[in-house]
Amino acid sequence: MSSVRVRLAPSPTGTLHIGTARTAVFNWLFARRQGGKFLLRIEDTDRERSKPEFTANILEGLAWLGLQWDEEPVIQSARIDAHRAAISRLLASGHAYRCYASEGELEAMREAQRQAQQAPRYDNRHRQLSPDQEAAYQAEGREAVIRFRIDDDAVITWNDLVRGPMRWQGSDLGGDMVIARRAPADAIGDPLYNLVVVVDDAAMAISHVIRGEDHLANTAKQLLLYQALELPLPLFAHTPLILNAEGRKLSKRDGVTSVSDFKAMGYTAEALANYMTLLGWSPPEGMGERFSLSEAATVFGFERVNRAGARFDWDKLNWLNSQVLHALPPVALLERLQPLWQAAGLALPSDGPWALDLCRLLASSLLRLNDGVDQARPFLERPTPDDDARAQLDQPGAREGLAALLPLLPDRAAGLDAATARGLIDQVVAIAGVRKGVLMKSLRAALLGKLQGPDLVDTWLLLHPLGEDRSRIEASLAS
Ligand code: GLU
Repeated sequence: MSSVRVRLAPSPTGTLHIGTARTAVFNWLFARRQGGKFLLRIEDTDRERSKPEFTANILEGLAWLGLQWDEEPVIQSARIDAHRAAISRLLASGHAYRCYASEGELEAMREAQRQAQQAPRYDNRHRQLSPDQEAAYQAEGREAVIRFRIDDDAVITWNDLVRGPMRWQGSDLGGDMVIARRAPADAIGDPLYNLVVVVDDAAMAISHVIRGEDHLANTAKQLLLYQALELPLPLFAHTPLILNAEGRKLSKRDGVTSVSDFKAMGYTAEALANYMTLLGWSPPEGMGERFSLSEAATVFGFERVNRAGARFDWDKLNWLNSQVLHALPPVALLERLQPLWQAAGLALPSDGPWALDLCRLLASSLLRLNDGVDQARPFLERPTPDDDARAQLDQPGAREGLAALLPLLPDRAAGLDAATARGLIDQVVAIAGVRKGVLMKSLRAALLGKLQGPDLVDTWLLLHPLGEDRSRIEASLAS
């Protein structure tokens, strides 16, 4: 059995972000390719900002995308005893210590660094306090954070599965890092991100940590923690960031960034998952760009993950989405459109084949699922003609042509086929002496209330069994 175990570790402080979802896609693909496990850990240690509704949104978004996880999600806050135990070990082994510096003192330190044009960092001032000094701070009633020692001359290296050999210098990591929040000196305050991630990844036997490259410095710090805690090391893969059109990291300011937003806009899970796979991964030659997650999983590997940032390309997403929608069987399209129609107050005149015919007609012109609401509307509700349609009906010959067609229309119950419909158009052109183009445009204006739309004859055939061809032509003659 494969020992590959990867995880997604979202913080439930917001809805499922496209960047997190893309990290999930790469983790899932790798796990499936390797026959390993894809796990979830909900990193809810920021108690103020974590919300159950965000956890629900994240789980729902992942399930919607088809990124099923393999074990019960681990809830990080439930593991606080293990986190504290690790901190106790670090204190006992001398890798960690209490720092009593007050917020004011730390701010004065940073200010002095700014003045001297130095990068802000903790100057390790409480690293070597004597027992007397500690006792004195405690007697003052000072609380302490717990810091982990990061020696300036430490050299941290790893072989990143995407970026190749990596090398960090301890002096670039900002000084001894806080691993537990401020608390009374006889207690251990709330454990912080880098510490808890290491403890949890080790406990979950994670073999590969796959996450965004914004975590590179964290990886360097975490490697020091693995060593100090004598835990087995996972491998690391840092994926490129998602960039906006200007080449900057995609952020909330770019508008749509949550998976649920994309869903609400009418993107399909298939297209979004497909698109996210392409954000930073190049499929092998011959595979094309349209594929399912399972197809991608048969070939996914880090050798084809790019190092450069991946620019978000709406055109490509739209194209993929239209490809997915065009390929959906009418029954499946109907299943997805019906809730949208319902929400928009549109009711189907009858069940069964008519609704499927409508879906068949709409499918080829849909870019997003939501377009199916506006496009179905004139079939489900009698339209009010727009300005162009009215102008068309006022053209010379327009009403004459429609008036000539009306008595020739077969009865609703008699049915209508495409050949008969085309024959009727030619017949009217001959009888009424109107130009064919004028007749067709006017018929479209009468049937749909606008001049754009799907194929005219198909439109007509769909409206005929409802009797709507006759009543709409009558209405436009009366207008
Ligand atoms: N909770 C972290 C985040 O959402 C997890 C990062 C990691 O994968 O270690 O960024």
